[in-house]
Amino acid sequence: MADTTLHFDHALLPTGWAADVRLTITSGRIASVETGVSSNHRDARHAVALPGMPNLHSHAFQRAMAGLAEVRGTSDDTFWTWREAMYRFVERITPEDLTAIAAMAQVEMLESGFTRVGEFHYLHHAPDGSAYADPAEMGAALARAADETGIGLTLLPVFYAHSGFGGSAPGEGQRRFVTDLDGFAHLLDASERAVASLPDAVVGVAPHSLRAVTPEALSTLAAMRPAAPIHIHIAEQLREVEDCVAWSGQRPVEWLFDHNDVDRRWCLVHATHVEPGELAGIAASGAVVGLCPITEANLGDGIFPARAFWDAGGQFGVGSDSNVLIDMAEELRLLEYGQRLTQHGRNILAASGASTGTTLFGASVSGGAQALGVAGGISVGASADLISLDPDHIAMTGRTRDGWIDALIFAGGRAAIDRVWRHGASVVESGRHRARGAVEARYRKTLTRLLG
Ligand SMILES: [Zn+2]
Repeated sequence: MADTTLHFDHALLPTGWAADVRLTITSGRIASVETGVSSNHRDARHAVALPGMPNLHSHAFQRAMAGLAEVRGTSDDTFWTWREAMYRFVERITPEDLTAIAAMAQVEMLESGFTRVGEFHYLHHAPDGSAYADPAEMGAALARAADETGIGLTLLPVFYAHSGFGGSAPGEGQRRFVTDLDGFAHLLDASERAVASLPDAVVGVAPHSLRAVTPEALSTLAAMRPAAPIHIHIAEQLREVEDCVAWSGQRPVEWLFDHNDVDRRWCLVHATHVEPGELAGIAASGAVVGLCPITEANLGDGIFPARAFWDAGGQFGVGSDSNVLIDMAEELRLLEYGQRLTQHGRNILAASGASTGTTLFGASVSGGAQALGVAGGISVGASADLISLDPDHIAMTGRTRDGWIDALIFAGGRAAIDRVWRHGASVVESGRHRARGAVEARYRKTLTRLLG
């Protein structure tokens, strides 16, 4: 494949802003970064480049039920009633349905600036709970969607065996999720085959939660792929914390650190309910906390103590999780606003004198990339995953550099995103994914049937 070159008036590099930047892209990867160079006739010219944002936690199929669980029930509505609604929806989805729904979600992710997604994927079996001939049939459906939309895929097959702490039997609504360890080993192999034709896919391991795995299984899973990312839902819900204490005498994060070597491979998704000692342990381990502010707000989970974690040197990234709304800038905005509302102050996740937008953006790129097992940022060797901003968007008027990112996150939103490149290919132009028309039409048909 011939090299392509892109020239930007300004680009946000890992070292900070640079002017007159030329990126040479070879086979989807950044082969060189030159700064302070004028453009030549071969360069495609653009104004402002930001690195693409990793979306470290998604359940793609849940996009199809977005907005369907917003009617108040007769008793107190909680995460657990939402989960029942989700289980009823899950019973019907075929592999073709999953491709249609995931492609729609990925189009929206790319348009909003997410260029790689971590699919925390637990919908493994046929609707009646029987195994498909290919154990990764549903994972392959996600890979087909990624092939179509171009998004980077980190597939995280989920191990799910139990309905509660202490190894209790799974429920009927969980029959499409459950495997034993042997079955999971086959699933992992099959998942690697399912993504093999994508250019830079990664496969990790995802024990669903401390509720769904036994301590022995957790150790076995962590050893199955010693270098791969390992993701787990943890301490999302107060009831989960109480159940964990009743079972073990310890809180979830406390228990995890006491029984496992948690390191930079790990992504602790949510970690909402943590004590200061647990927070310090996560920060010291180098693990990434996966924050999903829109979903956590939608489900009423609570607010992660991000400022204390930040002060301890902790790493975080963001994820769209339930995909109730897919919007990169809005995830970052809500992350900061949650902190402002609880701390009664402004510009919480930034050092003195620093732009909050740029700080949030940079931290989430590097934490997200680590969690998804890839190099992030605009740097040599990384995949050419890029966003360009429209400096003529009204929210950008009179701003420059950090001011553009602050405007993107706090004032303009995704409408200020002009183009998105994924692995060197331009997939979003003037804010619209090149396959949106076809993906939308198929999604509409799929949803009409599923909800009919
Ligand atoms: Zn989740």
